[in-house]
Amino acid sequence: MSDPLKAMYRPEVLDHGRAPRNRGALPGSTHSARVSNPLCGDRLTLHLRVDGDRIEAASFEGRGCAIAMASASMLTEILSGRHVDSALDLARSLVSAPGARAAPPDLGPLEPLRGVLGAPSRARCATLAAEALEEALRIEAEVKR
Ligand code: ZN
Repeated sequence: MSDPLKAMYRPEVLDHGRAPRNRGALPGSTHSARVSNPLCGDRLTLHLRVDGDRIEAASFEGRGCAIAMASASMLTEILSGRHVDSALDLARSLVSAPGARAAPPDLGPLEPLRGVLGAPSRARCATLAAEALEEALRIEAEVKR
């Protein structure tokens, strides 16, 4: 028997939702993107400091439900030191997960969010930060071209 609420609010998710990491402005940030989820009222801005192909630091600002805050917190925590391409792969996996019919993609360190992705009304709360990440890095890719 699986309890859908328990699946959604995994301990890691609850912990990050209660005490989000990397919340606030990011000194020297090179990339930012603002996204919102009108269904739930979540709004967040993701900040990145990118040096060459590597993300040096990440933070987020904004407000929203526990899941939105938790996913932003978890995402920013694993971005530092990550290659831009690897970060984009991870963001795409997360953003495409809710609609995916085939075997679920590997979510790597964001695996605790999987339970939320199966809840249609809340999935976007969990993918919002990844959308912001894609958006921030996509702007950069266009500037380089
Ligand atoms: Zn939400």
